[in-house]
Amino acid sequence: MAKRVYLFDEGGRDDRDLLGGKGANLCEMTTLGLPVPYGFIITTHTCREFFAGANKLPDTLHQEYTTAIHLVEKRMGARFGDPDNPLLFSVRSGAPVSMPGMMDTILNLGLNDRIVEGLARKTDNPRFAFDCYRRFIQMFAEVVLGVDGDRFEQVITDYKAAHAKTLDVDMSAQDWQAVIEAFKGIADFPQDPFEQLERAIEAVFLSWHTPRANVYREMNNIPETLGTAVNIQAMVFGNFGDDSGSGVAFTRNPSTGEHLFFGEFLFNAAGEDVVAGIRTPVPIEALQDRLPEVYRELHETQALLERHYRDMQDIEFTVQEGRFYVLQTRNGKRTGRASVKIAVDLVSEGLISEQEALMRVTPEHVEAFLHPMVDPDAKRDIVATGLAASPGGATGRVVFSADEATTVAADGTPVILVRRETTPEDIHGMKVARGILTELGGMTSHAAVVARGMGVCAITGCDALSIDVRAGTATTEDGVVIRRGDIITLDGASGEVMLGDIAKVEASSSDDFQTLLSWADKHRRLKVRANAETPEDAAVARELGAEGIGLCRTEHMFFDSERIGTMRAMILSETREERQRHLDVLLEFQQSDMLALFRAMDGLPVTVRLLDPPLHEFLPQEEADITALGEKLGKPVARIRETIDHLHEVNPMLGFRGCRLSIVYPEVTEMQVQAIIGAAVQATEAGLKPLPEIMIPLVVNVREIRAITEVIDRGMRRALRERKLSIPYKIGTMMETPRACLGADRLAPAVEFMSFGTNDLTQMTYGFSRDDAGRFIPQYLDKKLIDADPFVTLDQRAVGRLMKMAVSEARAAKPGIKYGICGEHGGDPRSIQFCHDLGLDYVSCSPYRLPVARIAAAQANVGRQTDN
Ligand code: PEP
Ligand code: MG
Repeated sequence: MAKRVYLFDEGGRDDRDLLGGKGANLCEMTTLGLPVPYGFIITTHTCREFFAGANKLPDTLHQEYTTAIHLVEKRMGARFGDPDNPLLFSVRSGAPVSMPGMMDTILNLGLNDRIVEGLARKTDNPRFAFDCYRRFIQMFAEVVLGVDGDRFEQVITDYKAAHAKTLDVDMSAQDWQAVIEAFKGIADFPQDPFEQLERAIEAVFLSWHTPRANVYREMNNIPETLGTAVNIQAMVFGNFGDDSGSGVAFTRNPSTGEHLFFGEFLFNAAGEDVVAGIRTPVPIEALQDRLPEVYRELHETQALLERHYRDMQDIEFTVQEGRFYVLQTRNGKRTGRASVKIAVDLVSEGLISEQEALMRVTPEHVEAFLHPMVDPDAKRDIVATGLAASPGGATGRVVFSADEATTVAADGTPVILVRRETTPEDIHGMKVARGILTELGGMTSHAAVVARGMGVCAITGCDALSIDVRAGTATTEDGVVIRRGDIITLDGASGEVMLGDIAKVEASSSDDFQTLLSWADKHRRLKVRANAETPEDAAVARELGAEGIGLCRTEHMFFDSERIGTMRAMILSETREERQRHLDVLLEFQQSDMLALFRAMDGLPVTVRLLDPPLHEFLPQEEADITALGEKLGKPVARIRETIDHLHEVNPMLGFRGCRLSIVYPEVTEMQVQAIIGAAVQATEAGLKPLPEIMIPLVVNVREIRAITEVIDRGMRRALRERKLSIPYKIGTMMETPRACLGADRLAPAVEFMSFGTNDLTQMTYGFSRDDAGRFIPQYLDKKLIDADPFVTLDQRAVGRLMKMAVSEARAAKPGIKYGICGEHGGDPRSIQFCHDLGLDYVSCSPYRLPVARIAAAQANVGRQTDN
């Protein structure tokens, strides 16, 4: 027969599966020799037996835990069920993984009508004893008997009202006795302490199957077969008098990470009083004066716990009649800055390795160094919530158009640009905005991608808002109206929209952060590149560690107000000659932009993607703009409208875009190639080392690649021949259609690199429009129809399967072919782990996501090494 009951000195932290997380931890501390109130654990195995035996406790269990109780009695110098010297227990559930939704704690178990009198006598404190008893009755009735807790609260409220009492401290022993009598009318609870214990153990086991616990397990893939353990621990009391109390301590400062012992203590109070914040605790140093021996023990304990667990600890402790007890220790929660400082300090103190330090920092921690964040402690008046599209916190005046944004921001006034959705025509407004808020659009919509690229905070898909641009209002579902000029705050990390100016914590780098990043670079295999098209973005990218550009969306270079006119003229050209004339102008712009990129990325690869979006995206939609364009080009408005209508597509994202443009308009590709090689020549002549990589988008078969490669090679060779130069260049393809992935073995031999465009690949695999998915994805998430937004975190099951196939077949056909990813997933930590496992060579992401990507890439590598 397997042992069912373990005393606290019979287990250790490796016994989580058998003793649950809490139990294993209590055992660990006891084994370390720390003064933990003694107790025992009933195993998870017993829980499984309980369910296998039709919810009946095994026959001999009672005997086994009675033996354990005797040993606890000996250690604690008190007896369970003895009115003259009572021992009381706390009973808690404890699963192998932390699991909200299971049984709450029962405290003071073992009290009854006789024992409470004994406790009053022994402590000479009847008020304390009856207070404990009423708490026990309420907890037992709620948790074991399933009585609604509000009924007890109501009794207390009514009693206080009838007797002119306000606070709990106003209640005397007699008052609590009267309340207890009333409680007994609500709950018929057992007086026998052993029956109380048996019923509490059953309740813990049964709580494994509460609906809340079942849902939580399902969501987090926790096997139902694990079961829960039961922790039964001797009670100690902080509210025993002036030489008692309860406290919480951190081994380091959780806000700054400073290596300074830090904590608070409440004299003559139970642990829950410290948490409830009813009275104000005193700084831990007060203990040093009033109970110096306790302070010394606490100080030694905290140092020992930190050394043992090799991380900052959050410790709960109680002092009863001058005796110190540790109740709990766990890795302390901390701010982003503290997290990095602590990790780096622990390495220099020799407690952990660089690899371990890297594993202790989360992406959220890193954001605090890159963007101002809404102060986590600030009060929030949330009026709507959308998708957390680009991190950071921003406050500003509401404007409803890009033009308005530039006007209002001209004198430095911070603005928040609120739009139904953004289009390339809004770029000038987006550039000056502190934050961007859209009603429509998902995580890869225009607003989201551009904001992330600029490092500007954004919330998209906020369909709780209905925006009326003309009226200058955005109305929430609850009827709150945000008007033009109102001040609002966006939290791009949570997707929350708030009224007013909410405090923020400013971002700044630190030496510790740089140290951590340098370790990340040392321990990662994946390279990181940036998605960037302007010299400013490229400079930021290099500063943040980019090892090249993985995606330059060349179309972004044409959205500038000065250039879009030429682009429009080119699209509306009616003859080849006319088109060529405009292309020549565009060539100049493009070439100077390319030169700036080669300069910023000297010696590093720059992946330039050929024109990708449907042409109609460049054309105006509003009547007034169409008329203005007609006047500017000297063309009849009707003709322009005709072209616009002609370019209109029912499904533009599946329409005339990507490499299809190069097939139909090879002269556009010729211009782009000329710009790239022209800039590369200029860069070389200026002593730089340009490494252009030309990438063909939205490919479906190898014939497209061959046709376009011919145009590219011809242009390149001609230019190089003329200049008598040799500049290495590569031609590659994006992998962003399911057909490309399924035929990767045929595409690979025709190119030198491949890069997953997982935005389009996700769109086409799911059949979810990137730009419209924001309308239904939140509902899908709410209803648990999907685990994560597939445009944020790579869907490994289906999209990932296509990628896996595409990598292995391409590498079989062309060993060693370079493979990357440049969809938005390239900056998402969980997706980066997958890309690492897939054996990709690099990930490419927005510049401001690079630090997170570097750390995630290192974590993927370090995690793998420790797995093996
Ligand atoms: C993609 O589709 O993943 C991609 C990088 O291209 P774009 O987002 O420009 O369509
Ligand atoms: Mg794409």
